[in-house]
Amino acid sequence: MTSAETIEPPGMKPATEEGQAVNPSFASKRLAREWQTIEAMIRCYCRGLHATQTTLCQECQGLLDYATVRLERCRFGSEKPVCVKCPVHCYQPARREQVRVVMRYAGPRMLWQHPMLSLRHWLDARR
Ligand code: SF4
Ligand SMILES: [Zn+2]
Repeated sequence: MTSAETIEPPGMKPATEEGQAVNPSFASKRLAREWQTIEAMIRCYCRGLHATQTTLCQECQGLLDYATVRLERCRFGSEKPVCVKCPVHCYQPARREQVRVVMRYAGPRMLWQHPMLSLRHWLDARR
């Protein structure tokens, strides 16, 4: 694969006026998978604590948009560590705390809702 190729994560919805997923494209499967994982975690969190169904609330959509931009601009590219183990961590402190809260809620639930994503994320974290 050339670096010019992009991979769109499967199962993403096009951007809509209601604030659906922003449909990013990534330069590697690894980055696309990272996006799928954070998207699933934020969606799990929003559904569970903000009682949303198909769309994210404004706050969670803002967090997903922020995380998407960080991923797209990640200096490590396809060799990135998982963000929680990143030596530089490019997130603003408030955003980092938001993600930490989301992960604490969604992490255990992801095992049941998205076992393969959880497994891949766990394997990525051990690399
Ligand atoms: S926290 Fe680190 S690994 Fe995650 S997007 Fe930022 S620079 Fe990349
Ligand atoms: Zn929400």
